[in-house]
Amino acid sequence: MPNGKAAGERCVQLSADYLCLLFGNPERPAVCAAFSADPQVCGASRTEALHLLGWLEQATAQK
Ligand code: SF4
Repeated sequence: MPNGKAAGERCVQLSADYLCLLFGNPERPAVCAAFSADPQVCGASRTEALHLLGWLEQATAQK
């Protein structure tokens, strides 16, 4: 995604079964490779992760 990825926009490298198509590839963005899953961000399920990430996006949005 040469122009970046907006918040909430689906990454073109995300497979239909929610796996990163660049995992383990040196072309994977550094920010993705540096991210470590954390229960405070990811919760205990995909539903919780989407809820938490939505809240974080709203709480940190520039106004
Ligand atoms: S880890 Fe990064 S490159 Fe991979 S699918 Fe997620 S946002 Fe895209």
